[in-house]
Amino acid sequence: MKPFDFIQPTTIDAAILALAEHNPNVRILNGGTDYLVELKHAAQSPGVVVDVSRLQDLRGIEIIDAGLRIGAGTTHTEIMADPLVKEYVPAMIDAAHTVGAVQTRNLGTLGGNLVTCVPSMDSGPTLLALDAKVIILGSKGTRQSSLTDFFIGPRRTSLEPDELLLEIIIPKENLGKPASFIKFGLRKGQALALVNAASALWVEGNKFKDVRIALGAVAPVVMRATKAEALLEGRVISEDLVQEAAKIAVGEAKPIDDFRASKEYRNDLIEVGTRRTLQAALTASNIKN
Ligand SMILES: Cc1cc2nc3c(=O)[nH]c(=O)nc-3n(C[C@H](O)[C@H](O)[C@H](O)COP(=O)(O)OP(=O)(O)OC[C@H]3O[C@@H](n4cnc5c(N)ncnc54)[C@H](O)[C@@H]3O)c2cc1C
Repeated sequence: MKPFDFIQPTTIDAAILALAEHNPNVRILNGGTDYLVELKHAAQSPGVVVDVSRLQDLRGIEIIDAGLRIGAGTTHTEIMADPLVKEYVPAMIDAAHTVGAVQTRNLGTLGGNLVTCVPSMDSGPTLLALDAKVIILGSKGTRQSSLTDFFIGPRRTSLEPDELLLEIIIPKENLGKPASFIKFGLRKGQALALVNAASALWVEGNKFKDVRIALGAVAPVVMRATKAEALLEGRVISEDLVQEAAKIAVGEAKPIDDFRASKEYRNDLIEVGTRRTLQAALTASNIKN
């Protein structure tokens, strides 16, 4: 590991000052489950590492006017145990539960998961399906972004080196929206997703409304299957339509062949994952399709 300076601020303001002072030779560390691995093998020193894991204001889950606020420093374990998450966005618990093993979930944070921006991240699909927003703080002030704009490419977000991901907001109109998450890996635990998927929808009368389908590990970033969503929007709910949407989602994704799975196998998983998450979201709405 190359030498670097280490700063452990005790307030968010101090963290922002440190980031601004050392910009661009500065990196943020939270749980370290991803970044420490990167740091060990990095060819160059990051210069300065700002450890934000002691910032209590970066953690926590609460209802605010805009919706459900989850501090970026909240761990996967805290998400799994939280009553507000259980009540309003239970699919997030299913997603958090699949991240690594207990030790990884105890240290790894929601913010860290999103900022890694790996296509297989497990918190991305559910948050994308629920239209979550991220709040970002830097020396120039605060800005808000959709996740679609936040994810730029593999391991690339719209964050500048002097910006801190502060919180994730699930908009209030989507609290309680029926949603479902599924992950396919080579084994049940400690496996990166071959494909993961989430769907969220409302049912109005007997029709689909505000359908969202999000897929991970099938494109450079976690993506929405917007053509499949459009097929369902406003239509009368039926099993045939769900199956057709799942096939359309396959056409929208661009999975790769690698040592873990072939492109063809991943395409099958996209279809199954889309179908099952749509069916589960319908079941959560008490609708049998
Ligand atoms: C054994 C193992 C298994 C894993 N399994 C899974 C899995 O199944 N699914 C999955 O999705 N992930 C998995 N991961 C990846 C990782 O654990 C998660 O992505 C975790 O949520 C990262 O959070 P962290 O707090 O540890 O991030 P860190 O490692 O501290 O940081 C990760 C990145 O985010 C940046 N960062 C962190 N917090 C902020 C912030 N608030 N603002 C701006 N930038 C920030 C860092 O600079 C760094 O670039 C696994 C990792 C390990 C080691």
